[in-house]
Amino acid sequence: MNSTQAAELTRSIQTKLEQLAKAVDEQRASKEFKELLDFQARFHRYSWGNCLLIAISRPDATRVAGFAQWKKMGRTVKPGEKAIRILAPCPVRRENEKTGEEEERVFFKTACVFDISQTSGKDLPCFEVPEVLGHADDLLHKLEAVAARRGIQVAYRQLGDGHYGNSQGGRIEIALGHDTAQQAKTLAHELAHERIHRSADGQVDPHTTREMRESEAEAVAYLVCRHFELDVELRASRYIALWDGDAKILGASLSRISAAARELIEDAAKETPNSVASVSTPGSAAAA
Ligand SMILES: [Zn+2]
Repeated sequence: MNSTQAAELTRSIQTKLEQLAKAVDEQRASKEFKELLDFQARFHRYSWGNCLLIAISRPDATRVAGFAQWKKMGRTVKPGEKAIRILAPCPVRRENEKTGEEEERVFFKTACVFDISQTSGKDLPCFEVPEVLGHADDLLHKLEAVAARRGIQVAYRQLGDGHYGNSQGGRIEIALGHDTAQQAKTLAHELAHERIHRSADGQVDPHTTREMRESEAEAVAYLVCRHFELDVELRASRYIALWDGDAKILGASLSRISAAARELIEDAAKETPNSVASVSTPGSAAAA
């Protein structure tokens, strides 16, 4: 890449990042997003101990609330559903027998909650992060080759519902069962995590927050995909909005995002489908 092309790439990254920031803010201002925030705000944050109790009695629980609370949200508990028992703190004020002063003591009583799947009624707010559909085999090959050159192992395996991939420091897992366009987007996202959020020994940078890391990695993936003509704007902008990212956060991370995107684009552009012998078909890299 000569200096004119490099300058052009930097300019193009800047313009596209501005477009992404605008799209994220539009998502955050949407009626659907506001409804989702309003819905989430109604749920109580449970203590660690209660989360454990919920996990033991119903490992697949996603959103829990009491009977009356569900009713307020326009949903009722389905007949025959068994409650999840948690401990609710009850502060009681009483007089100290020795000092005569009034003091507050906390007792615990059992409370019953139900998971969302045990209820029916009013539709839940929908803010879907759509999967990227279609074929991007060439981009996926290129990114697999970049990973191999960076000494990062890429493994394809079944991951849980809603999990598309993860970065473990020197190893990336990509979920099977999705189109190569989605897998390429995920691989670009995980490569960004490996590059900007992990140290040489694979540890996550302690000076970053999860919100920041997800916004940055998704922005890098968006820039890489757009460069190779894969449209992921709706998914990327909604994903970043859900992780509490916005134009301001993307602006603050501008130099990290553009440096990582530029490097990944340049590295991927150098690769041809057969440039790394061990990678021949999408999904064949270290299938696990
Ligand atoms: Zn991520």
